[in-house]
Amino acid sequence: MAQRITGHTRLIGLIADPIRHSKSPMMHNTAFEALGLDYVYLAFELGKKSLEEAVYGMRALGARGFNVSMPYKAEMLRFMDEVLPAGQMCGAVNTVLIENGRLIGTSTDGEGFMQACRHNDMDIIGKKITILGAGGAATAITMQAGIDGVDEISIFTREGASRERALRNAEILSSETSCRATVHRLEDQEDLRREISDSVLLCNATGVGFGSQRGKCLIPDASFLRPDLFVTDVIYSPAETPLLKMANSAGCRTSNGLEMMLYQGAASFRIWTGREMPVDLVRKSL
Ligand code: NAD
Repeated sequence: MAQRITGHTRLIGLIADPIRHSKSPMMHNTAFEALGLDYVYLAFELGKKSLEEAVYGMRALGARGFNVSMPYKAEMLRFMDEVLPAGQMCGAVNTVLIENGRLIGTSTDGEGFMQACRHNDMDIIGKKITILGAGGAATAITMQAGIDGVDEISIFTREGASRERALRNAEILSSETSCRATVHRLEDQEDLRREISDSVLLCNATGVGFGSQRGKCLIPDASFLRPDLFVTDVIYSPAETPLLKMANSAGCRTSNGLEMMLYQGAASFRIWTGREMPVDLVRKSL
């Protein structure tokens, strides 16, 4: 690495809080090295007070761009000179390209999810899926699934801000795409059972199973699942959440959030470098 960095090396960053656990620096730097690209990817953990300075600082330093993660994805919109359609529909930005001094933002999380489905031979186009949650990750997945041609999406949320966001997402989907989205209450278990029963895929896009909610699961028991249901979780640490454990025992095909993370990174990589990330090589480094 030391020999690779020169006076010409350009910076690509990651802004979030916390961020020290992130696999993104490893992913991108492995890919830059493999392709001989003169970039370096560094993570910056910063508090809200420093956000504006950091964003404009990236531009002043001539960085090629940066990723944005929790909790700044929505707030990033106000700094952008242009927001591409995926970012507009999600109301969030996870990737910024700095081109001729202009900050251009978009979201690649949804594309990452859809590419992960293709990687897993899970064809959801023209079919029905059920998604748990309406936060940042859930919104990105829901929007991209609708744009790409998923026929129907049942969105389950708890009461509160998420319900509002789910309703807004369903409205945007029906005005901008041909996907039919409906909003349901997580508390209504019979409804949950019914919606899952004719879905080809169930996705947990909440933080349940991660951090302070480690060990928890939004699906009451395995009778909600069936062997031909594909079950995914956006969480990749732990690698097997209680939902995936239950689904594996029920004979379902499953996938955690690692492939989504890999492919959202590959989409960002393409935006900054115009090159395809060598995903098979990068996957081995994770
Ligand atoms: P967020 O805060 O924007 O949304 C969280 C959602 O989970 C909200 O809808 C919230 O209401 C719901 N939720 C939380 N606790 C709940 C509970 N007990 N019961 C019901 N609903 C509950 O967060 P986010 O950015 O969407 O991130 C969610 C998870 O996705 C995190 O674990 C994050 O690390 C992961 N993520 C993974 C990827 C990836 O590439 N694999 C990308 C983005 C986010």
